Amino acid sequence: MKKYRCVVCDYIYDPALGDPDNGIVAGTEFEDLPDDWLCPVCFADKDDFEPVEDCDKGSVKGGRQ
Ligand SMILES: [Zn+2]
Repeated sequence: MKKYRCVVCDYIYDPALGDPDNGIVAGTEFEDLPDDWLCPVCFADKDDFEPVEDCDKGSVKGGRQ
């Protein structure tokens, strides 16, 4: 499942957690969120979210130089 980040406030939508405070059950993919769903932190709409690539906390494998 893909995580999405709010570009406005850096909130991460994690499908594994959902957004229970707003009636989104755990396991709901970002694509399956209702179109009127808003960022729970800053109320940006879905257009302001971008996919988060699955990398280990920003570290690059073998990136030591
Ligand atoms: Zn936000």
